[in-house]
Amino acid sequence: MFTKILIANRGEIACRVAATARKMGIRTVAVYSDADAHAKHVAACDEAYRLGPAPARESYLKGDLILEIAKHSGAQAIHPGYGFLSENDDFADACEKAGVVFIGPPASAIRAMGLKAASKQLMEAAKVPLVPGYHGADQAPALLQSEADRIGYPVLIKASAGGGGKGMRIVEAAADFAVALASCQREAINAFGDDAVLIEKYLQRPRHIEIQVFADTLGNCVYLFERDCSVQRRHQKVLEEAPAPGMTVERRAAMGEAAVAAAKAVKYVGAGTVEFIANQDGSFYFMEMNTRLQVEHPVTEMVTGHDLVEWQLRVAAGERLPALQHELHLKGHAIEARLYAENPDTGFLPSIGTLTRFAMPQAASFTGDTHVRIDSGVRAGDEISPHYDPMIAKLIVWGEDRAAALRRLDAALSETQIVGLSSNVEFLRRVLACDAFASGAVDTGLIERNRAELFPAPRTVSTAMLAAVCLEQLAEEARQSGVSKGNARRSPFDAVLDANGNPGGWWPNLPATRSLHFMRGEERLAVRIVFFANACTIESEGVPRAIVVGQSHEGRVDALVGEQHVAAQVVRAAEGRRVVFINGWRDEFTYVDLLDVKVDAVGHGGGLVSPMPGKILSLIATPGAMVKRGAPLLVMEAMKMEHTINAPSAGKVVSFCYAVGDQVAEGAELVEFEDDPAK
Ligand code: ADP
Ligand code: ADP
Ligand code: MG
Repeated sequence: MFTKILIANRGEIACRVAATARKMGIRTVAVYSDADAHAKHVAACDEAYRLGPAPARESYLKGDLILEIAKHSGAQAIHPGYGFLSENDDFADACEKAGVVFIGPPASAIRAMGLKAASKQLMEAAKVPLVPGYHGADQAPALLQSEADRIGYPVLIKASAGGGGKGMRIVEAAADFAVALASCQREAINAFGDDAVLIEKYLQRPRHIEIQVFADTLGNCVYLFERDCSVQRRHQKVLEEAPAPGMTVERRAAMGEAAVAAAKAVKYVGAGTVEFIANQDGSFYFMEMNTRLQVEHPVTEMVTGHDLVEWQLRVAAGERLPALQHELHLKGHAIEARLYAENPDTGFLPSIGTLTRFAMPQAASFTGDTHVRIDSGVRAGDEISPHYDPMIAKLIVWGEDRAAALRRLDAALSETQIVGLSSNVEFLRRVLACDAFASGAVDTGLIERNRAELFPAPRTVSTAMLAAVCLEQLAEEARQSGVSKGNARRSPFDAVLDANGNPGGWWPNLPATRSLHFMRGEERLAVRIVFFANACTIESEGVPRAIVVGQSHEGRVDALVGEQHVAAQVVRAAEGRRVVFINGWRDEFTYVDLLDVKVDAVGHGGGLVSPMPGKILSLIATPGAMVKRGAPLLVMEAMKMEHTINAPSAGKVVSFCYAVGDQVAEGAELVEFEDDPAK
């Protein structure tokens, strides 16, 4: 076995590989970009070396430099994780030449499966079923159009070099083909440096079911069952589970054997995943093979009880597979949720910034034996930057059956608190709760079809949330005045009562009142609080809301609001923002200090700003034109994906601040926009 390995990756996968290496007594070498100098994965390894500036091209993709570091540090092998160099055949070759073991398949197998089009030709020869489509070398637009016409709409255009759902375009009708092709090619060249495409029949209500395979250098090849990854957004996985709902023993064996045949056809070694697209009737087709460890591998680890990174290290060191097919068994049900820094309400636009608070449930690292596992590469205080994937963490749970696993996942999500960035935590909980998912009737269109339930209109503020944010504000004011009077040890009940049992701001004969003002999105909330002997009432918009008895200490609010017992956490963020969590649901307020003149700016501003650094791809709206709320105004490219910026309200597009091709900074004003006051 190796005594030292280099981990050529970052974030959660680098931390995860380091954990297995530690368990096996193997020393680890980390590499990092300038953005990651203080990252968790650097701390998780025994040594660390700088690669270069933040962009991946200047750091994590510098294969030559990484190899040099491996040799210099005495690492015998390199684990590439996923993404970056993990599916780079030239890098695998270079490792071999340098006498360093690449922990992955041989370069020839990566090459064979690297391009979707070429791999489909191979699979055709190996008699693995394929989706009807075109995967030829001729890329003339006219030919592609006629192939699409022949296949019949809807069709799906894919980047042959693609991954992560990038570049994919659904085309509903012949007339839309040319525009979609150009857009796919543009995204493909940007993300993969290769604009070759293939075309497939777009299946209706399909499921994404993939098989984990593993092969050793002695000729053994097994499958570790399936994962259902049908719940997707932008063709990217959101929830992954094993076993697949409704899977039968016979179909599992058929898919497993097809996957093993695919692996054997390319003389595969190591961990790989064969992805199938399946119809509701169970028929399935080869989609692609990912020649590496997948993000969702923990699901398989939980239902098989095997550590797949340990398997990778053993196989790379020339050992036999730790278990053969007849020794592998499925136990219970596991499900993974990907926590992303993104905003589900803006089409899942990544959210960039500092993770000021990051609280997760009590859980084991992957080696522990509890039923909740968290794989994360970030800590509170870390930055989610535009340079890398915006995944914050993976939450993986195990249960005796699917229902138990779902309950456990929801409970774990309800204890997850993320402040500083938008995240998909609440969205994930809504998906778990929706009937289609809970009943196991999954397909790749689940999120789109259940939009009404999954993207509810903004709720009016709840009384519990309002009471919590007010109690916290009053308690904090009391604490600060106590501190300033040199009297720091006052009771937390000062929120409502002072040390003599009198209400704060006590007024003879009349109950004392206090008004607090908050912004909640665009809405301004004026809350009037009336104090009595040992309680207060809160009212907003002149309407009494509830009688409140309670206290707040360091943001933890414990109160009786009307008849509801409320345990809330109020987290203060920059610029007066208050994030309130109750039972895992959140609401956000901005405290408006009426004595502070700057408040008039809150919630106003004539322009639309760039949510992240990027490049302008096209300007859609016409300057001077009136547009409806939600109308697309321009398209920008950021994090290698296209993002459409829409009108925030009905109004007038006065002018664009940038031209096509311009680079824009985060927060830069993109469009001069005037709200239509009549709307
Ligand atoms: P990537 O390399 O980006 O992962 P895949 O080929 O694996 O691309 O496809 C990603 C997702 O796109 C699938 O999981 C599925 O949801 C959807 N998809 C792919 N091919 C088809 C198809 N022919 N019909 C319908 N949906 C498809
Ligand atoms: P209230 O005090 O007005 O009842 P809460 O904030 O305590 O409101 O939430 C009550 C219930 O409403 C929660 O248990 C949850 O089921 C649901 N809920 C709250 N916030 C959301 C949200 N953002 N999205 C979906 N459901 C929510
Ligand atoms: Mg895929």
